[in-house]
Amino acid sequence: MSSDLMAVYNRAPVEVERGEGVWLHTTDGRTFLDCVAGIATNSLGHAHPALVEALNRQADKLWHVSNIFRIPGQEALATRLVDNSFADVVFFGNSGSEAVECALKTARRYHAVSGAPERIDIFGFAGSFHGRTYAAINASGNPAYVEGFGPRLPGYEQLDVDDIAGIEAAIRRPAAAAVIVEPVQGEGGARALDEAWLRRVRQLCDETGTLLIFDEVQCGMGRTGKLFAHQWFDGLAPDIMAVAKALGGGFPVGACLATAKAAKGMTTGVHGSTFGGNPLAMAVGTAAFDLIAQDATMANVLSVSQLLKDRLGDLVARYPDIAVDVRGKGLLIGVKLIPNNREMMATARDHGLLVAGGGENCIRLLPSLLIAAQEAEDAVARLEVAFAETRANLAKAA
Ligand SMILES: *Cc1c(COP(=O)(O)O)cnc(C)c1O
Repeated sequence: MSSDLMAVYNRAPVEVERGEGVWLHTTDGRTFLDCVAGIATNSLGHAHPALVEALNRQADKLWHVSNIFRIPGQEALATRLVDNSFADVVFFGNSGSEAVECALKTARRYHAVSGAPERIDIFGFAGSFHGRTYAAINASGNPAYVEGFGPRLPGYEQLDVDDIAGIEAAIRRPAAAAVIVEPVQGEGGARALDEAWLRRVRQLCDETGTLLIFDEVQCGMGRTGKLFAHQWFDGLAPDIMAVAKALGGGFPVGACLATAKAAKGMTTGVHGSTFGGNPLAMAVGTAAFDLIAQDATMANVLSVSQLLKDRLGDLVARYPDIAVDVRGKGLLIGVKLIPNNREMMATARDHGLLVAGGGENCIRLLPSLLIAAQEAEDAVARLEVAFAETRANLAKAA
């Protein structure tokens, strides 16, 4: 199909007209059970009445003024983020990449104003994803993202999660500035890093004055059943954190959170954004925050994710020729497949189920945090039909 759009996306043949909760209705009259949720973004489902109301109410009053003025909505959302996290201060942008960009700049500035401008090295990990801006692709652990864009930026290096000795040697280097890590890798295939690993990296950072950045753009904002994924581990916190995706419940917004100490270099004029933290984004973000942070929402994530884990585990046991592993945390779920994951996504679609792809040949289920148990059962039933059809097709081809 010819198009006036840049050809950067591999788009599924699905044109959605409207959504409600976990259901999407297409222009050609089909209905899908949505376990993609805009890639962990529509975390309260589609067209949640409280978000629709917050957006409309703000749209009637004021859309945009610029950060050369005070924006009360930023104070409201920042206070919520600070009161519920390790952070002391927040910067608002419009996307995950911008949140990551701010986190990386904050880390380098910290060292520069601390009398150690030579500390510029940022360590990321193989299999990680941090976005598509220049800094983000250099921090990400996927070599394909930097190909053809000229020389790599200096001071970015990828380490192997399993190479603890290499990680220690890197963090102990005099030029070490920061480590950036997703506590639960999303795009990489729903890989949850374990507590001992995260604590070890925290300890090495503490010993060397290296800053620890958590990229919770995908795993944060309630996705794992805690507001932030690292909050599963008592007393473990980063110095800087990027969040986005679910923060706006589908409205574009991102945020970089930091301790006062880590943010000490982020002074007037050092960073900025035209649209960042605009009144529309703040109104929706605040409404989304208040719903996500409710005990009932987190309780739903815990119970439905357990149900999905059990059901998907059963499915893997019955289809060992199709799937080999269920992984992830909370409602960031990966199912590692044997047949091609892209083909499985298409087969699932044929049966009214939308799932996302992921690294290591996974499909990912990232549904609304408000998904009902019955809807989760429905999703697994549809996936089973797709597994059965794939098995039949493989038998036919053999
Ligand atoms: C999606 C994602 C990003 C990038 O967010 P954009 O809004 O696409 O810029 C960064 N980090 C992680 C972990 C993500 O999942």
